[in-house]
Amino acid sequence: MAFIELNHVFKTYKNGVSALADINLQINKGEFVFIIGESGSGKSTLNKLLYREEKVNKGNVMVGGVNVSKLKNGNVYKLRRKVGVVFQDFKLLPKLTVYENIAYPLESYGLDNKTIRERVMEAVNRVGLKEKLRSYPDQLSGGEQQRVCIARAIVNKPKLIICDEPTGDLDPKMSREIMDVIDKINTEMGSTVIMSTHDKEIVNRMKKRVVCIHRGVVVSDQEKGKYIEYEDN
Ligand code: ADP
Repeated sequence: MAFIELNHVFKTYKNGVSALADINLQINKGEFVFIIGESGSGKSTLNKLLYREEKVNKGNVMVGGVNVSKLKNGNVYKLRRKVGVVFQDFKLLPKLTVYENIAYPLESYGLDNKTIRERVMEAVNRVGLKEKLRSYPDQLSGGEQQRVCIARAIVNKPKLIICDEPTGDLDPKMSREIMDVIDKINTEMGSTVIMSTHDKEIVNRMKKRVVCIHRGVVVSDQEKGKYIEYEDN
């Protein structure tokens, strides 16, 4: 079985909008996959199913051998511990320092301060942000804030990192730097990376697997793919 498997997955929101219709997808451990598609095509919904922010209506979502679609609410935290999520709008806590933002996900683990510090420092070193540990989010550039978000996502060494348009609010230079950080994490930590994006330049530069979604359906899936602008026939 692949690390991630979606089998005949359907998602319709309560208002009747069909976001995903019969998605079948397999992703191996350690893979780096771009999910592309125009706005409203279902990319975020697909991501949310993987970390159980949303539930499927039909079909199965398997992550690391766990049937996420059947997971009891009380066990969702176990899944979340294996998944790091990076958002377009960072979602950092404004009143906490960089250090505290990164340490935050570890707080429920009952780790001692020394272990927390070691883990935070390892994550910070991977994203290259050592000199900003005492800063607050509003004292950082967009690219730096995104590095904090990535450090927070990897602090628990997750098997899966989901990035939802991580460069959407960044200029091209910062976007390239952020992509290099994520690429390095994928290679060095071996975490599987799933990244939804609109960024044509980045997709074409990285030469990774590219899955294109259109109106809730996978319309193409290419190894070392290029960005495509899918249009209805
Ligand atoms: P993308 O990430 O590709 O922009 P989304 O997954 O956010 O696409 O959205 C897919 C479709 O589902 C869109 O038509 C969107 O309006 C709808 N949608 C997304 N979230 C919700 C929600 N919470 N309630 C109702 N409809 C939603």
